[in-house]
Amino acid sequence: MSYATGLRCLKCGAQYPISKMFEGCPRCRTEKIKANLVVEYDYDRISTSLCRKSLEAPGQGIWRFRDLLPVDKEEHMVSCGEGNTPLIRCKRLGEEIGLKKLYIKDESRNPTWSFKDRLACTTISKGLDFRARVATVLSTGNQGAATAAYASRAGMDCVIFTLPDVPATMLTFMRIYGAKVVLLSTPEGLGVYPYDIIAKCVKEYGWFPACTIVLPPTGNPYGVEGYKTLGYEICIQMNWTAPDRVVIPCGYAEGLTGIWRGFSEFHRLGLLDSLPTMVAAETDSGNPLTYAAEKGLDYVEKVSTKPTVAFSIVTEISSYMGLKTIQESKGKAVSSSDQQILAMQRSLARKEGIFPEPSSATSLAVAKKLKEEGEIDRDETVVCIITSGGLKDPNAAETSTPPLPSIRPEWRAFTEFMKEYYHFSLTK
Ligand SMILES: *Cc1c(COP(=O)(O)O)cnc(C)c1O
Ligand SMILES: [Zn+2]
Repeated sequence: MSYATGLRCLKCGAQYPISKMFEGCPRCRTEKIKANLVVEYDYDRISTSLCRKSLEAPGQGIWRFRDLLPVDKEEHMVSCGEGNTPLIRCKRLGEEIGLKKLYIKDESRNPTWSFKDRLACTTISKGLDFRARVATVLSTGNQGAATAAYASRAGMDCVIFTLPDVPATMLTFMRIYGAKVVLLSTPEGLGVYPYDIIAKCVKEYGWFPACTIVLPPTGNPYGVEGYKTLGYEICIQMNWTAPDRVVIPCGYAEGLTGIWRGFSEFHRLGLLDSLPTMVAAETDSGNPLTYAAEKGLDYVEKVSTKPTVAFSIVTEISSYMGLKTIQESKGKAVSSSDQQILAMQRSLARKEGIFPEPSSATSLAVAKKLKEEGEIDRDETVVCIITSGGLKDPNAAETSTPPLPSIRPEWRAFTEFMKEYYHFSLTK
């Protein structure tokens, strides 16, 4: 049993029953705006059964928060052990950036090494509620891998559409769980997707989508719910307080919106006194939210894209809900360059022992930029989400790991090598 009561449009407030609606609100749809539907709950009833103590209790994956998630049947709650990822105080990196209280929420510790596991977890589970037999997703990698893993655990077939130029490691991830992967060659390359095939599979064949099937993206409303648990966990890990800011790498802003919904729900339930400001971190190579926020638009417009190391987030268009989340939280959208992103990937690895995917390091690159611009104060508590691990795309780390010659196993060769290659002298 779930406390979910229906779906609600984020723009016009129209209400709909819990159902398979994947194209946003039909009532206020225009050419430019596809307003997202979000799941509504009976918060009065929830507040009688929930308290801080019950929420702190450990449980299986994100299902310890099941009262705030939209899945009906207990036996449909699929888990691969997602969530409960560490929130890590980063003193050394904080010093470099000029932030006294910098934290990393390390989502690379999830079952398929990215935060997409939270989304796939609620999507596939809700798919079981709807008796779906085939899950499907269009993805550059992480969403595909996560959907494939959860579908395999649920005994569901999975069809993934992706692009031929995704890194080989990403393809391995997507294929190893048994998903049927289809490579679509688009002349435009990464960040530009053909959605018609997947929309047909969903509408005519009843496949259950773990991603949007239209543009501008609306997502699957049940998937976004999974990301709420990121917000819940951060609150609990900070002893029932909210950070001043949360910075998260953004594509379609499902993660951004989901975390914000998590904080907002705890606030609404009286479990949290304050709310954070949300920062959408984008890449300069495709930054629709930054563009729309700068122009003061109330919808997201298409921007042009370029190849980038941050291929998991580059996109020509983002969602209505992303813009709405930024407005509601008095937040910002900021983008950064490949060079800044790679510099932060390297700093996080060298100063804190955490190896992020380049897309994930975008949150740090943006935090650094906002600190330099005086937008973030050095005393603020800042949480940067590291959405995925660096081994997803090892080639991107090449500049930090240039070719390594081998040497003869002799003392002199060794000392010379240390001096010449690493500029490292042997001292006591
Ligand atoms: C998908 C993804 C994102 C962006 O998530 P959205 O919900 O589309 O904004 C960020 N980082 C990584 C590594 C991802 O795979
Ligand atoms: Zn509407």
